[in-house]
Amino acid sequence: MLRAEGDDRLALFRRAVEVKAQYVQNKVYFRGLIEFSNICLKNCFYCGIRRDSKNVRRYNLSDEEILGAARFAYENDYGSIVLQSGEVDTPAFVERVDSLLRRIRELSDGALRVTLSLGEQAEETFRRWFESGAHRYLLRIEASNPELYRKLHPHDERHRFERRLEALQTLQRIGYQTGTGVMIGLPLQRMEDLADDLLFMQRFNIDMVGMGPYIEHRDTPLYAFRAKLLPLAERFDLSLKMVAALRILMKDINIAAATALQAIDKLGREKAIQVGANVIMPNITPGEYRDDYALYENKPCTDESPEDCKACLEARIAIANSTVAYGEWGDSLHYGRRTGG
Ligand code: SAH
Ligand code: SF4
Repeated sequence: MLRAEGDDRLALFRRAVEVKAQYVQNKVYFRGLIEFSNICLKNCFYCGIRRDSKNVRRYNLSDEEILGAARFAYENDYGSIVLQSGEVDTPAFVERVDSLLRRIRELSDGALRVTLSLGEQAEETFRRWFESGAHRYLLRIEASNPELYRKLHPHDERHRFERRLEALQTLQRIGYQTGTGVMIGLPLQRMEDLADDLLFMQRFNIDMVGMGPYIEHRDTPLYAFRAKLLPLAERFDLSLKMVAALRILMKDINIAAATALQAIDKLGREKAIQVGANVIMPNITPGEYRDDYALYENKPCTDESPEDCKACLEARIAIANSTVAYGEWGDSLHYGRRTGG
């Protein structure tokens, strides 16, 4: 499927469209994305906000700014938000997230679903945050082939493949709706690796997936490999095929249209919606900080306000023959079935 061209490629997309309509309908769920800090203790070779990156203006939103963004999502009926940041596991950080979760629950009367995307944490931390109101967690495996993973990360305890995998298993055991994903078109990645990534997600019985193209960033070690990369247009097309193939493999999961798609093609996310994705994460981080959360280059819409984002997305989603499901949590149907709920 990933190598399909011409009529085969169209057949793949058509089948994904059918499966999507049958299992998850043509609804798109909004998750308001709050990138609340770019401070990170890790040093992933691909990422623009890695610890050793010197050209980054580090920021950390105040609690009031974070709660303001959550209130915006609540008042605009988004149903759910994602709190994302660099990976920090200090006691102060754990405590802060815990208190934010409680305050978000309070301000929305429990009506907002909260997803966390804060990297690897101790089991105790994951449990604590779950009890304080986070019910979903996104932790991309990045590359499910341990050998490839090792080439993309430093060789120390904080960057061990097994540690990441265990964290994902722990999340699932605790009862989170568990999400993972990979980057597509990484240097040294083979087509077989991507096929295995899809099988990994299926075997893991994952509830949600966010995956998108790898986009090089000049201040990172992986930039040295840029001559070996697939052209951006091919990485983009491969990402669409990954989404379509995954929709066929895992019919009732939630699949997010990655923001990185939009860094390549202005209508990138809508195209992913058309071929199988059903979640979009509008950025509701206060505008002044968005430029500084540069995981990769050409990050879209960094100069827009949350209000602009909303209007713009609604129009785009209508083009993709879908409607925004306002006021719905949009829980992964797969999670419901997997847990018998
Ligand atoms: N620190 C957390 C969450 C923020 S990073 C974590 O790492 O889990 C969120 C995602 O951004 C990562 O999982 C990675 O897949 C993606 N990312 C990082 N650098 C990227 C790049 N150069 N191109 C595309 N995606 C990238
Ligand atoms: Fe930090 Fe996440 Fe970037 Fe890795 S991918 S350097 S953990 S923000």
